[in-house]
Parts: sequence; C-alpha cells; structure tokens
Amino acid sequence: MIQVRNLQKSFGSNKVLKGIDLSVEEGEVVVILGPSGSGKTTLLRCINFLEKADEGEIVIGSTQVNARHATKRQILDICRKTAMVFQSFNLFKNKTALENVAEGPVIVQKVEKQKALEYGRELLKNVGLSDKYDAYPSELSGGQQQRVGIARALALHPEVILFDEPTSALDPELVGEVLGVIKKIAKKGITMIIVTHEMSFAQDVANRVVFMDEGVIVEQGTPQEIFLDAKEERTKQFLKRIT
Ligand code: ADP
Repeated sequence: MIQVRNLQKSFGSNKVLKGIDLSVEEGEVVVILGPSGSGKTTLLRCINFLEKADEGEIVIGSTQVNARHATKRQILDICRKTAMVFQSFNLFKNKTALENVAEGPVIVQKVEKQKALEYGRELLKNVGLSDKYDAYPSELSGGQQQRVGIARALALHPEVILFDEPTSALDPELVGEVLGVIKKIAKKGITMIIVTHEMSFAQDVANRVVFMDEGVIVEQGTPQEIFLDAKEERTKQFLKRIT
C-alpha cells in the first residue's frame, strides 16, 4: 500500500533523514516513536510532499514517485491520496467547522457543495461535534479543533492519514477525547501513520511501532515486541526515559 525507499533529506548540512525504508500495509496503523529532532515530522512531510526529499522513492497505491524527479502531476496524485492532521490543527480561522471540513472536497475534488456539506455534517457527528457545525475555530477548544482537523482529513477519502503529533499542542485534559476519536477511526481499517509521544495510546492502537533516532529507523515491531522486548539499546533507553 505504502512504500518508502531510501528516503533522504537534508536541511543545509543537517542530514535529517538518512535513508528511510518503510512499508505500510492497507489498513495498518503504524506509530512512529523517537526523540525530538529524530526526523519523524520530516518523514511524514516528505511522504506527502509538503517537503521534498533529496533522494528516494515513495509509492502510494498505484502511484510511484522518485522524490528527486517527481513531476507536478505525480505530486498532485500523492497529495490526493494522503491527508495530514497537524499538531497545530491548521484550520481556516475565518471558516466554520463545517466549512473547514467541506472545503477540500469542493475545491480539490470538485464535489457538489451540498453533498460535501451533508457528508461534512456526518463526519463532524462521528467525531462528536454535531452541535458545532457553525462554530468558528476561535469558539472551539483545542480538542474540538483537532477533531475538526480529523473530520477534514477523512472528508478527502485519503488512502492514508498522516498524524503529526496530533495531541501535543493540547492541554492534558483534552488529549483523551482526540485519542478516542483516532482509535475509533483506526478500528474502521483506515491506513494510518501516527507520530506521537502517547505511549499507552501507541500500545493500544498500533499494529506496528517504528522507533526512529537520528534520521534512521532503529527498530520496528509489534507494540509487544517494542515495549516489552526491545532489542536495541537506543530503543530501550528512549522507552526508559519516556515511560
Ligand atoms: P521530530 O519530528 O522527530 O522532532 P523533525 O523532523 O521535526 O524531528 O526535525 C528533525 C531535524 O530537522 C531537526 O534538527 C530540525 O531542526 C530540522 N528541521 C526540520 N524542519 C526544518 C526546516 N524546515 N528547516 C531547517 N531545519 C529543519
């Protein structure tokens, strides 16, 4: 379903991704863990071309792209197949919750506006916001804004949703409601790659846990294998620090 091969990315002389290989099966939930600065966000951003990698290949479904030689058409194809949920929500401030969700389908996918609004209401209901269709982001809590962000991602019917630390900007008491929504979606079999520091959530929701450090994948396995029986010293040290 998704394959990343030998992905490399530098910012100036700072080599942030040093040849990442990663495969994700359809319906799989992959959680990426690792210390701050290890390249997790950059990896997600390179997968959907918010950032252009220097080297490597990205395959999503039938679209195969060489990062260096990607054409506009290929990049557009990848963008259409992916949706990102951002740490800082990134909602349109001057649009209501419902407009935020319906915007992508109408503009990008040329879905009829009434249909997009109808589906948007359904999605907002699914994330527990049926009473907030007409609220602006400033009228919503961080947790509610992030749930709008998740509904917006779902509205695009992506082949994969990329979550970039979706709860790290939230007050602790709001984290649970967002993780609950992500868990609910995961059960529906949507393919997801999630960068998070929420260990018990990772343990709960992941089919596979990938541990990254200094731009490489150090180790990967089932939550059981990583949390209870990590092989690599770097993984053990990280888990000891964070749990
Ligand atoms: P993580 O998500 O694991 O915390 P990041 O991918 O955000 O790591 O960052 C990895 C490294 O890349 C860091 O050293 C960071 O400073 C650097 N970096 C990330 N984005 C940029 C950018 N746009 N310009 C320059 N350096 C960047």
